[in-house]
Amino acid sequence: PIEPWFIGGPVIKGFGLGSKVLGIPTANLPAENFSDILSEHTSGVYFGWAGLSTRGIYKMVMSIGWNPYFDNTEKTIEPWLIHDFGEDFYGEELRLAIVGYIRPEANFPSLESLIERIHEDARIAEKALDLPLYAKYKDSPYLRNSL
Ligand code: ADP
Ligand code: MG
Repeated sequence: PIEPWFIGGPVIKGFGLGSKVLGIPTANLPAENFSDILSEHTSGVYFGWAGLSTRGIYKMVMSIGWNPYFDNTEKTIEPWLIHDFGEDFYGEELRLAIVGYIRPEANFPSLESLIERIHEDARIAEKALDLPLYAKYKDSPYLRNSL
């Protein structure tokens, strides 16, 4: 188990790779606001709860790291909200409670195997977040601050 941590900010534009290359949109936050927090946490895949101002609270799965497949040089966070919004929400305030850890960052031999693994991560996150141990954080005041 990990000590839950909380970060948030306005959703900003990335390179649009998530949706276009993987079919998995990831809402980017301005990482410079919490580079210290990021450096404290080991790279890998985490899960938790996401609060989106005016919309609600959703399950989310998130990678922290350098995205080896894309050869990133900056440590980033890439939260995928497990919900079909059918539209973008750039500029909205996004609040995250990161409550659990799934696996270390890994490199994949193909895009297909990476995509398959991310969907598996999402299934793990969905199930885990129903456990009382993790479900209780859905009610964190921090997530609802902007609702
Ligand atoms: P970017 O590189 O700009 O982050 P992505 O291709 O990763 O672009 O898509 C992320 C954007 O898609 C988010 O900023 C958000 O506006 C939108 N979006 C729509 N549905 C979701 C979702 N379920 N999870 C995360 N982002 C989503
Ligand atoms: Mg993204």
